[in-house]
Amino acid sequence: MSSERQPQDLKNAIREAARRRLPEFMEMVRWLYHHPELSGEEKESSRRLAEPLRRAGFTVSFGVGDLPTAFVARRRRGKRPVLAYLAEYDALPEIGHGCGHNLIGTAAMGAALVLDEVAADLGGEIRVLGTPAEETLGGKVAMVEAGVFADVDAALMVHPASEDRVLSDSLACQSLEVAYLGRGAHAVAHPEKGINALDPLLALFSARDALMRQSRPGLRIVGVIREGGVRPNVIPERAVGHFSLRAPDRERLAAALSAFRNHARRLAASYGCKVELTLTDFAYDEMLTNRPLADAYRANLASLGVAVNDAPRENMGSLDMGNVSHAVPSVHPFFALVPQGLASHTREFAQATITEAGEAGLLRSVQALAMTGLDILADPDLLRRAREEHRESGRGRGKSEA
Ligand SMILES: [Zn+2]
Repeated sequence: MSSERQPQDLKNAIREAARRRLPEFMEMVRWLYHHPELSGEEKESSRRLAEPLRRAGFTVSFGVGDLPTAFVARRRRGKRPVLAYLAEYDALPEIGHGCGHNLIGTAAMGAALVLDEVAADLGGEIRVLGTPAEETLGGKVAMVEAGVFADVDAALMVHPASEDRVLSDSLACQSLEVAYLGRGAHAVAHPEKGINALDPLLALFSARDALMRQSRPGLRIVGVIREGGVRPNVIPERAVGHFSLRAPDRERLAAALSAFRNHARRLAASYGCKVELTLTDFAYDEMLTNRPLADAYRANLASLGVAVNDAPRENMGSLDMGNVSHAVPSVHPFFALVPQGLASHTREFAQATITEAGEAGLLRSVQALAMTGLDILADPDLLRRAREEHRESGRGRGKSEA
């Protein structure tokens, strides 16, 4: 039986195909770099990324729920498993692809094309999900809620960073707006006739520090004042703060959010103001990296001569992939694009995407994504272990609500 050798032959074919098609993929990266489109406006970017998939025989449809620039491209050779590569392609105002989503979108597209070339006998489905507006509302959250992942067995994507890493912890996150409403009056002549809306907001900022100290480690609350009155001789009748709460997991986030909201209400009462609390954007769940899929991805990178740093992360933010990872077994590896210390969301980061470092990162990402996809399609035992781990890591789901 040659079945022992076959997966390795296919992986060699994947490596070759990725190398052969690299110039074509880099052309896509450069086009996106030169035509950055903002979150929710990625009309041309999504169309361009889907086009090579359509030409390769994928069925493409645009629009998911309220997201016209989302797309689903599928190549079906059997019912299961369904393997999803996630493409991001939104850019930032002023700095363009400063988060490197031009590389992310192209890596997803490239991996699907390369895997498709060698996967004719494997069955299952290769799907590319175009997930817009990562930088603003979190398109993946809306797509999870729209049921796009209902039949997906595994979800994979990569993100550029300053190191190669497979375990990508991230924080759960929720933003909210706090608006205090008081009563305006002349601040000098008739202060007794007014109710100062800024006072409870300032008190909330002080309370925030105490809340962070009291809670278990890992809670972060950051905020800004959006409105704090108009002029000094008028008592502010309206004051608005915008806050973002971060916690290691969604249960602790829900508890912290509840405590924060209650405190905001108590302050309103004690200052005689009204308060309006409005959740803004979607809640992001913490990323649950699926260990069996991560092990497979790491092994494939190792076969390419790439070592990863999987020490616990220190400087992390939040990812909308977190919500996907609660729905289906997922990995979100990082690959080194820039030196340590160079932050994303900068022009330098955007510029790096079209350099040799960008090209090298894209090549190993396409190869490792496609090889791991092959593992998923060809090895039922990997998928069984991935599902089992996902069930266990998701144990706390939906336990508490804010
Ligand atoms: Zn990003």
